[in-house]
Amino acid sequence: MANLSLTKKKSIAEEAYVELEKLYGKQEMTLNYSNAWELLVGGILGAQTTDEQVNRVTAVLFKKYPNIEDFANSSFENMMQEINSIGLYRNKAKALIGSAQKILKDFDGKIPTERKALMSLPGVGPKVASLVRGDYYGIPAIVVDTHCGRISQLLGLSNSQNPTIIEKDLMKILPEETWINWGHYLVLHGRKYCKARCRNCLACPLNDCCHYANKKSIQKKITEAKEQQLEDGCF
Ligand code: SF4
Repeated sequence: MANLSLTKKKSIAEEAYVELEKLYGKQEMTLNYSNAWELLVGGILGAQTTDEQVNRVTAVLFKKYPNIEDFANSSFENMMQEINSIGLYRNKAKALIGSAQKILKDFDGKIPTERKALMSLPGVGPKVASLVRGDYYGIPAIVVDTHCGRISQLLGLSNSQNPTIIEKDLMKILPEETWINWGHYLVLHGRKYCKARCRNCLACPLNDCCHYANKKSIQKKITEAKEQQLEDGCF
């Protein structure tokens, strides 16, 4: 486990962010939505599901159920039928109806901006709350999904497995203006270089600053791979 000073963590994060910005530039949200409710729905449906799958479902769903009232008044069976092409559809159908009803009852039909209020909605955890706060309301927030959590740990920025604690750790290290992009960048980085089952530290542009890649054992493997003139590998 990395136990680095705050100064060291800030320097790693700064260097990593510069590289990530060069690699991925300005990022657009990949979920399709036209208002805060639709983004919330996309976030709830997105658990263990790709954004492409969510977009396919919501393209039909938002036409049939154009506003929050339609979701609140839907039967559980109908909602399940609408979203049954994606995983965990039973729980997600329950969460969509429950969230719509709670927003109408407790929040006057408006999607709350407060993290605690968002997380009081069924199916909404820290990740979806940060998604809505950051990407819709523009409130600085870090979306800590599995990629962001894993890579932030490997970089040496957090020792926790808990997304809420990781987010708090990152907030102490990263400048506020980088929070929204940090989450987006690490999702892309987790798909391209730093996969859960194969960390391609040899080719990864963060390997200079990354705490994991700078461990002696990993440096040794990277040197051996370079000697063999390899361009990729799992480390
Ligand atoms: S250097 Fe390796 S561990 Fe670090 S971010 Fe890149 S792929 Fe992941």
